[in-house]
Amino acid sequence: MRDIPDSIRLTENEKAWFAASQETLTFKSNPYYMDLARQSEAVRHQLIPTVSELDYREYESRDPLSEELFSPLPRMVHRYRNRVALLLTDNCSIHCRHCFRRSFTGTGNNNLSLEDCDRVIGYLNEHPEVKEVLLTGGDPLTLPLSHLAAILDRFRNRAENTKLILRMATRIPAVLPAGITGELLHVLRKSSPLWMVIQFNHPDELTAESREALQKIREAGIPAVNQTVLLKGINDDPQVLGELFQELLAEGVKPYYLFQGDLARGTSHFRVSLERGWQIMDELRQIVSGLAMPTYAVDLPGGGGKIPLSRSLLIRESETGYIFRNREDSNREFEYPRESDS
Ligand SMILES: *Cc1c(COP(=O)(O)O)cnc(C)c1O
Ligand code: SF4
Repeated sequence: MRDIPDSIRLTENEKAWFAASQETLTFKSNPYYMDLARQSEAVRHQLIPTVSELDYREYESRDPLSEELFSPLPRMVHRYRNRVALLLTDNCSIHCRHCFRRSFTGTGNNNLSLEDCDRVIGYLNEHPEVKEVLLTGGDPLTLPLSHLAAILDRFRNRAENTKLILRMATRIPAVLPAGITGELLHVLRKSSPLWMVIQFNHPDELTAESREALQKIREAGIPAVNQTVLLKGINDDPQVLGELFQELLAEGVKPYYLFQGDLARGTSHFRVSLERGWQIMDELRQIVSGLAMPTYAVDLPGGGGKIPLSRSLLIRESETGYIFRNREDSNREFEYPRESDS
């Protein structure tokens, strides 16, 4: 509890998490986001752990997307034919309590070395079907700028595909907007074609500082989209999401995905029912423009991959959940569980 400033009085549920010594995602914050947590309950719930995180469900997993099955090189996930994800670091500026990579985040695995990066580029050169690399983590923008610049430079100069799309997934604009510096943007812009994928989950995260960061990204000419995680008690409300998406659009950021919670261990208290998710999407369509609408999506458990949560992929409901097919293999079924309230 020594990391929590005196001005934040912990609730009993928060104290109980700090008192327990279980193996779970550690608490991590920075002064900017802590200050925001003091002013906003929606931010506080994303930052300060509660004892609910120690409540594991049997269908939850340390590897909810079964990424280990699709990992031909350390830290690289090749799940979809034409794009790969690369975990540049396990480090983040803050630890989001809903993090689905929580068994990797903040574990001291450290940063991708340039040798590992060269191995990845070698793999890409042997797999010309890969057109895009998602640079993710952790948060890649926590890398020392010189190291990040060296990695991006290698992708631009050693990958045979000169049009390789780089997709930088980061939460820095929302959780540490001062981290969006001119030098960083210069490095990112040099690495074009590069898209930023950011994560804002609530309008309270759109402060004067974060809007300034988004403005800088826009003015640097770097295209950006947003992914929001649907979070119970935080943003499971069409008015809240509608405001968030409209405001993001005004900042030049297209809402891309609204993610149904992945089945990561200790996150059941954040998960919203699919019924409610669908209802929210229907209502959202009435209050925002089509341009502001993200795709509601989920990563199916058991390695089923990402699917849009459209009712056309829902085969039936079972006693314990919803049975989906993915688009790759219509003979296989994947169950997304229905959350029980206890
Ligand atoms: C989400 C994800 C992608 C990207 O999927 P899009 O639908 O293109 O956004 C790629 N690889 C992995 C492993 C992913 O989890
Ligand atoms: S920034 Fe991303 S990887 Fe890091 S804790 Fe938050 S959700 Fe997890």
